[in-house]
Amino acid sequence: MTELSSADVVVIGSGICGALTARKLAQRGASVLMLEAGPRVSRAQILANFRNSPRRSDWMSSYPFFPWAPHPVYQPEDNGYLVQAGPYPYAAEYIRMVGGTSWHWAAHAWRYVPNDMRIHSLYGVGVDWPFDYDELEPFYQEAEEIMGVAGSAAEHPESPRSKPFPLEPVAEPYAMRRLRERLAGVYSVVGNTAARNSRTFDGRPACCGSNNCQPICPVDAQYHGGLAVDAAEAAGVKLIANAVVYRLEHDDQDRVVAAHYYDPDKKSYRVTGKTFIVAANGIESPKLLLLSTSDKHPNGLANSSGMVGRNLMDHPSTSMTFDVDEDVWLGRGPQSPSSINTLRDGPFRAQRSPYRLDFTNISRVDGTTRRLLQEGVYGEEFEKRLRHSAAREMNVKTVLEVLPNPENRITLSDQKDAMGISKPQAHYAIDAYTRAGAQAAKADFARIAELMGATNIRLTDDEHFANNQHICGTLSMGSDPKTSVCDQYGQAHDHDNLFMVGTGVLPTAGTCNSTLAAVAVALRTVEHILPDRSSVRSSNDAASNA
Ligand SMILES: Cc1cc2nc3c(=O)[nH]c(=O)nc-3n(C[C@H](O)[C@H](O)[C@H](O)COP(=O)(O)OP(=O)(O)OC[C@H]3O[C@@H](n4cnc5c(N)ncnc54)[C@H](O)[C@@H]3O)c2cc1C
Ligand code: SF4
Repeated sequence: MTELSSADVVVIGSGICGALTARKLAQRGASVLMLEAGPRVSRAQILANFRNSPRRSDWMSSYPFFPWAPHPVYQPEDNGYLVQAGPYPYAAEYIRMVGGTSWHWAAHAWRYVPNDMRIHSLYGVGVDWPFDYDELEPFYQEAEEIMGVAGSAAEHPESPRSKPFPLEPVAEPYAMRRLRERLAGVYSVVGNTAARNSRTFDGRPACCGSNNCQPICPVDAQYHGGLAVDAAEAAGVKLIANAVVYRLEHDDQDRVVAAHYYDPDKKSYRVTGKTFIVAANGIESPKLLLLSTSDKHPNGLANSSGMVGRNLMDHPSTSMTFDVDEDVWLGRGPQSPSSINTLRDGPFRAQRSPYRLDFTNISRVDGTTRRLLQEGVYGEEFEKRLRHSAAREMNVKTVLEVLPNPENRITLSDQKDAMGISKPQAHYAIDAYTRAGAQAAKADFARIAELMGATNIRLTDDEHFANNQHICGTLSMGSDPKTSVCDQYGQAHDHDNLFMVGTGVLPTAGTCNSTLAAVAVALRTVEHILPDRSSVRSSNDAASNA
């Protein structure tokens, strides 16, 4: 075993949440060491992988697989890394390399609506957050200013703000304009708030409308975790890549004293620090805590309540695909630019899930080409049908709320990965609350179809819910140590120098993508850690005690 290093703060995971936490801590003078399971891969390499990929519509295919830091893969077949215990598959996708999963996100950067954070008090379902929207609002703003979020405050009264969006909205694609115009008076179609440059910002260019946001923006007009890592390193954070943390060690006072990691050759290293922050994502973070067993904590760290890994949530989607009665040509501009946001809250939440309705703008050319070739369509008929789909096919999906349920959870599988580390296992069900929301949305689908003159309408069936990759709840914040993993600052109830950041700490999922909220909560966590200098000593102190 090799003693490699030591720092005031050790951050485990270099995704957008870990890197922006590390950056802010370093900016305030802490020495910060960031341990990352995967290697560095450049944007140019990812782009080259995409261009050479035989399966471009599989967004994971541009991201290399590293046996020492495995991630779930589903195409051409499930690699079995995320073991499914059922009854409903939880097909999470994530990336384990420097910068993490937001390399291939859609850059939706939503705020919750205030009532998402008090659904128990208001509607008698789920749980309340340990703080309210007003408390988080300045940190939302801070996160948006770092990430360069573009949007229109007038279009988003559902999430109040004290300052303008950092950037003006990105230009509205033609297809979305036609949706907005044709649904007007019944539905308000608005631009999505996104971490996407509408003009040059932060040394990066404006969006040029190339419609490749997932799996990789070729010009870095979108913010992502790789940029957050660059900024963290510029602020003085030391990054160790290819460091797969497999255990946290504690002392007699239940303080975490070291993180143990493997390099790709399975050589083990021990890193010491004063404060430890787990930021390995909503599945890998609980997995690490569950792996960190000891005689005193046989069920893992931060887990005296047994809540680590529980309350797994996402935003399941149902959808409608249809042919509109005019040419709109999806595929010009960002992939996911517009939505309907007026259905996200109301007294009905006592009975059923609310939802956002999200319109896709992904070019239909790739998908239709593959479908037609599979059907054996060639020649003039091929051209006619491809042209028709490319011009007229549209799609709208629900983004449904899932309530926290302790039975939905991540556990350790008895299967091991190539490093001999337990694989994560997902236990997940879609409950009646979410299903009732999906049923209610059918009326909206029908109305939208009518207003758009839709033909060839295709609805997903009642048993099919797409996963939206928003892994929430598994490290839930809360005031009661019996029902939550950490307090309002992400501080483990059981270990006073162990913190957690990421989407896993969010106690409810609401109806919007989770990353902006997770970053805002993480930036708030830093405020708690750093003003209290007693929990962070200088690097010299730490080194001398290592
Ligand atoms: C296709 C797709 C589209 C998405 N679109 C959106 C969107 O539009 N808006 C939105 O809000 N969200 C979106 N998401 C979700 C978003 O990407 C995540 O919420 C976000 O990346 C979470 O950030 P994180 O830092 O918590 O975790 P991650 O980004 O997953 O980073 C975790 C890091 O920890 C590292 N790590 C893991 N295990 C270990 C270990 N044992 N030791 C050391 N390091 C470890 C990983 O390698 C990784 O780098 C999308 C996700 C996908 C897959
Ligand atoms: S449309 Fe193109 S330039 Fe704009 S964010 Fe998406 S990939 Fe980047």
